[in-house]
Amino acid sequence: MKPTLAATACVNLAALRHNLAQIKQTAAKSKITTIVKANGYGHGAVPVALALESESDSFGVARLEEALELRSAGISKPILLLEGFYADSDLPILQANNLHTAVHCLEQLEALEQAQLSSPIKVWVKIDTGMHRLGVRPEQIPEFISRLHACPNVEKPLRFISHFGCADELENPITMQQISVFTELAESGCERSIAASSGILAWPDSHLEWVRPGIILYGVSPFSDKTAQSMGYQPVMTLKSQLIAVREVKAGESVGYGATWTAKQDTKIGVIAMGYGDGYPRTAPNGTPVIINGRRVPLAGRVSMDMLTVDLGANSQDKVGDKAILWGEGLPAEEVAQHIGTIAYELVTKLTGRVEMVYLNEQV
Ligand SMILES: *Cc1c(COP(=O)(O)O)cnc(C)c1O
Repeated sequence: MKPTLAATACVNLAALRHNLAQIKQTAAKSKITTIVKANGYGHGAVPVALALESESDSFGVARLEEALELRSAGISKPILLLEGFYADSDLPILQANNLHTAVHCLEQLEALEQAQLSSPIKVWVKIDTGMHRLGVRPEQIPEFISRLHACPNVEKPLRFISHFGCADELENPITMQQISVFTELAESGCERSIAASSGILAWPDSHLEWVRPGIILYGVSPFSDKTAQSMGYQPVMTLKSQLIAVREVKAGESVGYGATWTAKQDTKIGVIAMGYGDGYPRTAPNGTPVIINGRRVPLAGRVSMDMLTVDLGANSQDKVGDKAILWGEGLPAEEVAQHIGTIAYELVTKLTGRVEMVYLNEQV
């Protein structure tokens, strides 16, 4: 038997750099906040940030712990907490580590007003321009801004941030409304940021001074009907494993838990070392594509914790040890996600610690 290649995520750092260069061409006048939250969308926040630091103007994360992980790894560019800080006691840590923070609610404003800090914090006023998840409501912005101006713990000029709810829907009028609410409320001359990947790709009016690319950096599309590859981006993660068994199954026999797939004719079933214990969704239905030896074969039977099964066909020559690709090169994660009824964001972000991470093309 050959040495095994069990669940492995190959992360192509050259593709990552290519994707950032593409974004810079598309939003040529904007500075870049490279989004590396949720462990760099499952790709590894530190290796991604190290690969992109020289070309990024700042980084964006969701949690303080994520920002501190980047600082520990030597990342020195500004880091923005997209949802701001969660506790008063975080403020001195923000100050000590040059972390910018979104400020989206009264509780955060009051914490800033009451803190004892030796130097001011860099804040991005988060405006709720219509998504109604986080942000200060438009009618409350004037008072909010005047309190921030009066607060010595807040660096001036202020910066402004917002987020789209429907920018992946190219016909949806909400996006243009959000842009106009944002540009009217943000103070003139201040730095502004509203576009994430779909804004960058589909809404040039949203680019403004800063853009915040996430998923498209990783070579995955934010749109349901268009792959990133068709727009000139390259997949960064290829999820691989190998066949650990090739078995004969006779017509009428079923495969796996719950006997959810039955062979229509005699065939060969390939067993791949990849399961929901690695983060491959158990909800993937029969027919979800997998690549074996360069060809697509359908998932056959329920995904189990450590294995999944595919129909190789009666005439297959595939052998134990042959490589399988679950998504990435040759099989867009967007397409797999469509079969599963989710978005590729979730697929790449949910890999578990059992998946070995391998980084390719580390040198610039
Ligand atoms: C996650 C996130 C982004 C990046 O979104 P993508 O769709 O992955 O590009 C940008 N801004 C905020 C506030 C986010 O939470």
